[in-house]
Amino acid sequence: MIPRLKPALGARELAALARVPSRGGVGAFEAAFAREMGQRHAVAFPYGRTGLVMVLKALGLEGREVICPAYTCVVVPHAVVAAGAEPVFVDSRPGDFNMDLELAREAITERTGAIVATSIFGYPVDLDRLDAIRRDFPHVRVIQDCAHSFAAEWRGRPVQREGDAAIFGLNVSKLVTSIFGGMVTTDHDELAHALRALREREVHPASPAKEARRLAYLLAVYPAFWPPLYTLVNRLERSGVLDRFVRYYDESQITMPGDYLEMMTSTEGWVGVAQLRRYRQIVERRRALAALYDRELRGLPGLELPPLVEGATYSHYVPRTGNRAALLDAALRRGVQLGQLIEYCIPAMQSYRARPAARPGPWPVADELSRTTVNLPLSAGERGARKVIGVLREVLR
Ligand SMILES: *Cc1c(COP(=O)(O)O)cnc(C)c1O
Repeated sequence: MIPRLKPALGARELAALARVPSRGGVGAFEAAFAREMGQRHAVAFPYGRTGLVMVLKALGLEGREVICPAYTCVVVPHAVVAAGAEPVFVDSRPGDFNMDLELAREAITERTGAIVATSIFGYPVDLDRLDAIRRDFPHVRVIQDCAHSFAAEWRGRPVQREGDAAIFGLNVSKLVTSIFGGMVTTDHDELAHALRALREREVHPASPAKEARRLAYLLAVYPAFWPPLYTLVNRLERSGVLDRFVRYYDESQITMPGDYLEMMTSTEGWVGVAQLRRYRQIVERRRALAALYDRELRGLPGLELPPLVEGATYSHYVPRTGNRAALLDAALRRGVQLGQLIEYCIPAMQSYRARPAARPGPWPVADELSRTTVNLPLSAGERGARKVIGVLREVLR
């Protein structure tokens, strides 16, 4: 079966596990990450969301409002709440996945502390509009959420450099992975210093038990994505047996992982170093497959293709369809697993509806996206993509 995603892990990452001495991985990863992103500082955290919590605290934004997309990963507002701030949600721009920056501008008040500018699915956030907001509202800090984009570019400008800080998520579903883990980059020396001081104070060193858990997890990931086994994995996933590993949110609760304040392990750091060496190649491959899907699926009835955008990194390739459940099911029966990634509109979720800063909706674009988007596999190579194309043609014609 063709899986909806597959981390680009190979012998290099396995070798990272056998590294002696194993210490020093986190520092090496930070140095390599800052270099790759073209930034002065990279500060590692156990998760991307931990990084966001610490950025908000380092900027002194407890008690303030933080503008977030209504259509993003739900762990983002969870982190805002964990930092003692209050998320305010803004709809996506019609015809786009990213937050509508004109609506974001209207949501700014004197209580606004920051705006989380997300390049969702790797589509670069509109930096011209963001520049105008920064000019008109100097009290509003800008945090780039690059968990999907890494170094996406808006008209030649890398998005991660445009703001106070950028956060990155590094679990196995991201463009590059360090098993779990997160990173914050910044060009501001004082902010980097404050982040390191906060980390020293609030994030505990990784225990040997966590080191062992991460090792075991990575070793399980290799066979899990091996095609003959993946059919079984998919069945277990659908039956709910794997919920502990694959379910990352609960509709009714705002929670953080139990170990979100336990430091990234050195092993994770070394795996991250090995992954960064693949980064450019991974992005190039994704761009090529997005172009292939665009060419071969254009005009297929019942499937609205996403745009091809210069500088996008395509963490996901996301068409929309009116009958998602049926399409997912029909593709699965033909050996192709399609994903549905953000199948919720956050402010409409039970856990956010009654928050103090909840503004009345509606969020029509986010709501529509949450019900209609599917992800086509981007990590099964050109052969995999051609099989996906064949299956979609068969099902939709
Ligand atoms: C994955 C992700 C994050 C951070 O993820 P962690 O799991 O906390 O590392 C942040 N924003 C978006 C949009 C994401 O997809």
